[in-house]
Amino acid sequence: MQPYSISIVSRMLLVLLLVASSISPAWSQTVQKPKIVIIATGGTIAGTGNSSANTSAYQSAVVGVDKLIAAVPEIRSVADVKGEQIFQIGSESFNNEPLLKLAHRVSDLLKSKDVDGIVITHGTDTLEETSYFLNLTIKSDKPVVLVGSMRPGIALSADGPLNLCNAVVVASDKSSVGKGALVVMNDEIHSARDVTKTNSVKIDTFKSLYGPIGTVVESQVRYDRLPSRPHNLQSKFDIDKIQSLPEVNVVYTHGNMSRVPYDAFAAAGPKAIIYMGFGNGSVPDYIDGVLKEVRAKGVFIVRTTRTGSGSIVRNGETDDDKNDYMVIDDQNPAKARLLMALVLTKTSDTKELQKIFWKY
Ligand code: ASP
Repeated sequence: MQPYSISIVSRMLLVLLLVASSISPAWSQTVQKPKIVIIATGGTIAGTGNSSANTSAYQSAVVGVDKLIAAVPEIRSVADVKGEQIFQIGSESFNNEPLLKLAHRVSDLLKSKDVDGIVITHGTDTLEETSYFLNLTIKSDKPVVLVGSMRPGIALSADGPLNLCNAVVVASDKSSVGKGALVVMNDEIHSARDVTKTNSVKIDTFKSLYGPIGTVVESQVRYDRLPSRPHNLQSKFDIDKIQSLPEVNVVYTHGNMSRVPYDAFAAAGPKAIIYMGFGNGSVPDYIDGVLKEVRAKGVFIVRTTRTGSGSIVRNGETDDDKNDYMVIDDQNPAKARLLMALVLTKTSDTKELQKIFWKY
């Protein structure tokens, strides 16, 4: 074939493509749809029960990802979605093993140019922990959106289908890039750093101390605030370099505390205890000596609060400098556990640890 005839053929092809795209807008939209992977881990969003009146008594982690996606056909008009079933568990059963496996998978997927964002279906019980961990360790700006439901799919007024649809909308929206891991529930978009499950049964259980950072209503994504703490690309933690996490445990305080949990944890050899204290992380005089003993054995002590909000003031009622303790900022004890475990992969210097705690 002569060179000029190749150029005629390619021009004709170009014209054909342009005509096709103009007479078929659906076709041109298809090629532009974001590519979203939905990773399913279980939870109530994959739950089912015997009766539609059961909103709380049901079996969680049963329905597979393909069925979840098929139940919300609207998703396909928003994104090219692919489902992946990584586990089928209640999120209360998440320990470090599934957490790390999930984080590694998310990291690997996001390296592909064929993935624009990720939605993770997850039980609501530990959604805040998994999302916070991904927020700190995934080295990508692409959206990672976690979603769950409070009612199983079979229930009257099930919240899962709309939550899932909203999650895909948020993950597909360009304005979600660079905002850290997000939790989408009940039409709200929360920063993983701040969000907490606050109620055992209510649909509007997820709250952030400073409010949601945005909303998603009728497929419209609106952000009102930006997360300001280091996450993803600005974070110093990188999941690709983390294969295991040091053991960190939380001890709750109440009147008439026993020293038994401290002694047991210290004997089991954790790296740190998150002390979930009263008020400003305060320590009863009869536990004061126990904490000092545990610290002398090399276990780090991080003071946090059981109040549900507020930062811990260093060297207030407790002499943290003298005791070589650390205090958390305003993260809850479950998140303090994860942050401490991550920080310990970097340093064991308490001054340095404290600086990171205040920054993140
Ligand atoms: N136990 C369930 C879970 O966290 C509850 C839920 O998903 O809402 O997996």
